[in-house]
Amino acid sequence: MTGTDSTAVPTGAPAAATAGTGPLQPAFGVDVGGSGIKGGVVDLATGALVGERYKLPTPSPATPAAVAETVAAVVRHFGWTGPLGVTYPGVVIDGVVQTAANVDKSWIGVNAQAAIAAALDGQPVVILNDADAAGLAEERFGAGKDNTGVVVLLTFGTGIGSAVIHNGKLLPNTELGHIDVDGKEAEHRAAASVKERKNWSMMKWSKQVTKVLVAIENALCPDLIIVGGGISRKADQWVPLLGNRTPVVAATLQNTAGIVGAAMASATDVTR
Ligand code: BGC
Repeated sequence: MTGTDSTAVPTGAPAAATAGTGPLQPAFGVDVGGSGIKGGVVDLATGALVGERYKLPTPSPATPAAVAETVAAVVRHFGWTGPLGVTYPGVVIDGVVQTAANVDKSWIGVNAQAAIAAALDGQPVVILNDADAAGLAEERFGAGKDNTGVVVLLTFGTGIGSAVIHNGKLLPNTELGHIDVDGKEAEHRAAASVKERKNWSMMKWSKQVTKVLVAIENALCPDLIIVGGGISRKADQWVPLLGNRTPVVAATLQNTAGIVGAAMASATDVTR
């Protein structure tokens, strides 16, 4: 099949076949992103993928029906028949999408949980915000794993996503990317896409990021801020430039965080 990435599980060797060996049951997560829909089996004891991840291109337009079909195709690739978690880049309450800041507006009001479950003949599905999923995974298995207290994860991409976690418990659907910072929405000020569009240097962009972080730490007093998104791979070039007071570390799970967090949510409902 075209559109699979280099990390795809070879056909005929579904990862689910090797599942079931850890102390906890393996779980399944799907991360719905702007360019790819990625899934995998996750060992919930370690946060590691069991086998490889599998990725299909995000359909265009990314309507609910088209995305539901692609999610189902990813799940079927593994022969996975149990519950699954799926990320969505906006607010989701009880499976129903409430916002669509950077995605097709036809998502608003859609029961994504029901749509994806229907595409999978009724398999149980939990939908959660993409940054919440990444935050859960990073807090348990990644950059926040040795930290107690309040951890804030921010993803810098097209927009800014956020997760707020207190001693392992998620406060779902925080939308810190949309708070007003000095008269401008945080994600319009400091998303990675803004840096790209305006061709800013790391120095120039980091000043805007600092403003956003200061606004967040003034309101929430976190113990740790984890920065994620593609640009966190270059964290050594901009985290040292930040001038806020809370320690800032780069996410460590990178492109598996969404899958791992979604799988965690499928096992324990963290979305309420
Ligand atoms: C959305 C968030 C999402 C973030 C990253 C924001 O525009 O409002 O819900 O987590 O983008 O995708």
